[in-house]
Amino acid sequence: MVTSISSIGLHGMEGYRIQVEVHVLEGAPAFTIIGLPDLAVREARERVMSALITMGCDVSEKRVIVQLSPPEQKKSGPFFDIAIALGILKEEGEINVEFDANIAFVGSLRLDGTIQSVDGLLPSVLVASQLGFTQLYIPSALELPLANIPSLDIFPIQHLDDCVAHLQGQLSLSITGNKCANVVAEQSSRPSEYDFPHVLGHERAKRAMMIAAAGGHHLFMTGPPGCGKTMLAERFPTILPLLTDQQYLEMVSVYQMTNSTPPPKRIPPFRSPHHSSSYVALVGGGSNPKPGEASLAHHGVLFLDELPEFTRKTLDMLREPLESGKVHISRAQGTVTYPARFQLISAMNPCPCGYHRAKNRYCTCSPKEIQKYQNRISGPLLDRFDIFLSLVPVSMNSKVSKGLTSVEILNQVIKAQDRQRRRYQSTDKNATISFETLKKLGNVSPKQMQLLEKCAQKQVWSNRVQVKILRLARTIADLNEEELVTEEALWEAMTYQRSPLTEKEGVGVVL
Ligand SMILES: [Zn+2]
Repeated sequence: MVTSISSIGLHGMEGYRIQVEVHVLEGAPAFTIIGLPDLAVREARERVMSALITMGCDVSEKRVIVQLSPPEQKKSGPFFDIAIALGILKEEGEINVEFDANIAFVGSLRLDGTIQSVDGLLPSVLVASQLGFTQLYIPSALELPLANIPSLDIFPIQHLDDCVAHLQGQLSLSITGNKCANVVAEQSSRPSEYDFPHVLGHERAKRAMMIAAAGGHHLFMTGPPGCGKTMLAERFPTILPLLTDQQYLEMVSVYQMTNSTPPPKRIPPFRSPHHSSSYVALVGGGSNPKPGEASLAHHGVLFLDELPEFTRKTLDMLREPLESGKVHISRAQGTVTYPARFQLISAMNPCPCGYHRAKNRYCTCSPKEIQKYQNRISGPLLDRFDIFLSLVPVSMNSKVSKGLTSVEILNQVIKAQDRQRRRYQSTDKNATISFETLKKLGNVSPKQMQLLEKCAQKQVWSNRVQVKILRLARTIADLNEEELVTEEALWEAMTYQRSPLTEKEGVGVVL
């Protein structure tokens, strides 16, 4: 007889169902694992054999065949030890349990039968219910960010003995983890190290950031050094709503794969890689592929300061996650996929010296140098940005307003996002919803479409830019609590675009 037990395999953050079939026969002693296992999977032989001996089950004189299905898919990581060990125990008649196809076991064994956690195991919890499993056995050492995962019973186990005892109804196991947060209650108790009033003036930029946060739009800033670009960007996460259970679990899973600490209290991550970062550091990769900064910013913010200083290749690699919200890394062992749905905020000086068009300083760059500097950012990447801002330094002496606090802005953002959720019946925001849905549900009148077309002809805006303006206008109307997109919203949205005409007139001015 053959025993079949379910487990979960992972390619990066994407999981798939694995069927572990175990057959124990009399004959020449052997322990074979087939189904394209990597070294870590093959070494399960020694771990399982040793663990079973401590439980009084010795199969060293038998012929053990383990097949991992689907056989054409490459398997990696020591995730299948528990399933293999249970299969042998059942084959040997040591346990009398029927293994349901909806129960999965993932985890690695120590030689004494203790269950140990492995890096990158958390995503299997994330995908278990998507794969149709209702019960999941995992190492108790695996830190779970949540106490409840919908439609999934999780049983943390310390030792193979515990697992057997629980399966035979002799032991009860309970899940531990952070209680599901009351997201609404926590919104107002955010750490206040960064707050928008710390940045004086810049009212237009703050307004643009509120729009970007409400609709999920990417934002581009240019301005001389020290004018407040970084300060503004650092405060952007304070006006983003806290992550939902699902988003939080996804974000923590990415951090667990890189052995780094996720931001506390469900605050959306803020990543600001240095411009000397390689493309592997930015989008992930390496011989043993790991997620990069783009994935660590999943459900949060990726801030790229000094954008032209990044290499062209590095920046172009960002186009895929910006388009699809995912990063695919191809390796000989197969393609690894990581999530990377982030909001991109970028900043740059207008020229190499930083003072092009500044009122108080002379720019020392030649027109050619300025052109070259600005051309380092490719057109397709610039096209991904929805909001363009040109900042000027704020005088410390003048009476400048501090503007709204982060919490006040956040409350408006939450309301605007609620409107979008109700309208689209999904978690998509105005920036990511399909154009067809936007046209159908966005409440943009034919008169406004004509107005936009007229302006677009004058400004030589492409269709892509026109769609971006409509998306922005929809977000502005949501912030203003308007059911219809108003003409004012449309005009305001147009002010955040760069004008190709200006680019031709000046010396390649981005804005
Ligand atoms: Zn200059």
